Amino acid sequence: MKTVTVNIVTPDGPVYDSEVTMVIAKTTSGEIGVLAGHIPMVAPLAIGAVKLKKEDGSTELVAVSGGFIEVRPEKISILAPSAEAATDIDLTRAKEALTRAEGRIQKKQDSIDFQRAELALKRALNRINVREGNM
Ligand code: ATP
Repeated sequence: MKTVTVNIVTPDGPVYDSEVTMVIAKTTSGEIGVLAGHIPMVAPLAIGAVKLKKEDGSTELVAVSGGFIEVRPEKISILAPSAEAATDIDLTRAKEALTRAEGRIQKKQDSIDFQRAELALKRALNRINVREGNM
């Protein structure tokens, strides 16, 4: 199967750089699957897992907290505010962030704080799912 280079980059530096056969990502308007040779496209990403299918049949997961996916026929770039490969995720930290976010949501603060807490909750849940390999 044909492969395509995938780069995942954050303001802190590169997180992923490899050849894959398919990328599955969660855009703000739904999940997309991209193969090598795809027509150029740019789409905003939701907080979610990027699934990277390798030539040997394995799948790697990277948690991303939004950003953009840019598809070109020979290269796919993901630019995200933060991104972590499954093995780099600190599960305890993510669970603590989840508990904190749940506490803030229950307190029903003003709407800006509520939205921030909801986003923190989504990031934490996403990290937990990616770390635990829940696809
Ligand atoms: P926290 O409250 O634990 O900082 P957060 O969702 O506010 O979580 P972010 O602002 O999204 O964190 O990320 C800040 C930096 O910390 C980024 O570099 C991100 O990759 C890293 N990071 C956040 N949570 C984790 C985690 N559970 N394991 C590993 N790295 C993490």
